[in-house]
Amino acid sequence: MSQTADFVTHLECAMTGKRATAGVVHNLSEDGWPLLVRYDLERMRASLDRDEVWARGGGFWKWRELLPVRSDENVVALGEVDTPLVALSNSYPGAGAVVKDEGRLPTGSFKARGLALAVGMAKELGLKHLAMPSNGNAGAALSAYAARAGIASTVVCPADTPEINLSETALQGGDVFRADGLIHQCGAWTKARADEGRWFDVSTLKEPYRIEGKKTMGLELAAQLGWSLPDVIFYPTGGGTGLIGMWKAFAEMEALGWLEAAQKPRMVAVQAEGCAPIVRAFEAGERHAPAWENATTIAMGIRVPKAIGDFLILDAVRESGGWAQAVSDAAILEARAKVAAADGLLLCPEGAACLAAYDIARADGRVRADERAVIFNCATGLKYDMPRVEKQLSLSADG
Ligand SMILES: *Cc1c(COP(=O)(O)O)cnc(C)c1O
Repeated sequence: MSQTADFVTHLECAMTGKRATAGVVHNLSEDGWPLLVRYDLERMRASLDRDEVWARGGGFWKWRELLPVRSDENVVALGEVDTPLVALSNSYPGAGAVVKDEGRLPTGSFKARGLALAVGMAKELGLKHLAMPSNGNAGAALSAYAARAGIASTVVCPADTPEINLSETALQGGDVFRADGLIHQCGAWTKARADEGRWFDVSTLKEPYRIEGKKTMGLELAAQLGWSLPDVIFYPTGGGTGLIGMWKAFAEMEALGWLEAAQKPRMVAVQAEGCAPIVRAFEAGERHAPAWENATTIAMGIRVPKAIGDFLILDAVRESGGWAQAVSDAAILEARAKVAAADGLLLCPEGAACLAAYDIARADGRVRADERAVIFNCATGLKYDMPRVEKQLSLSADG
């Protein structure tokens, strides 16, 4: 059985720093907080060459030494790619803004990164049935990678989750349900049954490995920018796994001596005005974000009223010198239309939200035109409702 060198030393409670043993099944830490994977970065630094790693194929799986999956047979792969940085040359001529288009990944969203790792580790640890609540893309990624790994999956979605997400999840073998509640309520239901032993709960940050997958966005981005980091990152923040994961990646790369400069990007947590618990907590100077009541936005991926990793999101945003920004649904639709028409790039609503937040920051001077800004487009725009075309043409009427 072929293995990659094992650099994992232990897991660590993100709140208390208390250690937990690697290589056994975990959800939250014993104190009820997310667990983070820790590596022997000193030893890795001495034995691993960044350019050799970057030259490998396999998309995010190329970062094997920085990931927890050990055995090659537990690498669950669906044709992963490095996602491109797409310039917005027509809509923002001369500006340093680029879109990292995560819609090119298997299952059409960056949820592939996290779920591939969660499923790979579930396989390595012998788990047979995984379950989670989902606003759509996570469930689709779970069902796809679980099917590939021969593991059963159950997904519970809010009733207004886009039809396409429910359908793709079902076709990929997921046992998927519509439920009469928002994502945190769906999560309470799946957790109660996980506690009874019915399945293993792979909710955002409630197992240690999805964040390791999302971390690869930060590794990949740095490599794409010649082992440097951008000035500012706009990230559509729901559970916040990607923002937290990238911040972890930057720290690990720094420890590995892989970065050309110590300068880290300002991290901007972007939310919708109709569901902005992180923005509210950021502005109030709080470390935790109470649940947002009556959450509503067209950007389903960031309709997360309560995030267990709220303090990790807020810590990273503050430490980076960044901020949290809410944008309106109208601004989201406007940003999507602008870039699609001018640059031929169809963003998902969450990606468009980041662009709307970039516009605000440019207008008020927080981001200069020449600064390198990365806007995360986390899913293919093709999965979302678009305006209906009403123009009719009668081909026989006028000869
Ligand atoms: C899940 C999701 C998000 C939020 O990502 P987190 O890392 O969980 O905050 C944003 N956009 C889309 C399209 C998503 O599917």
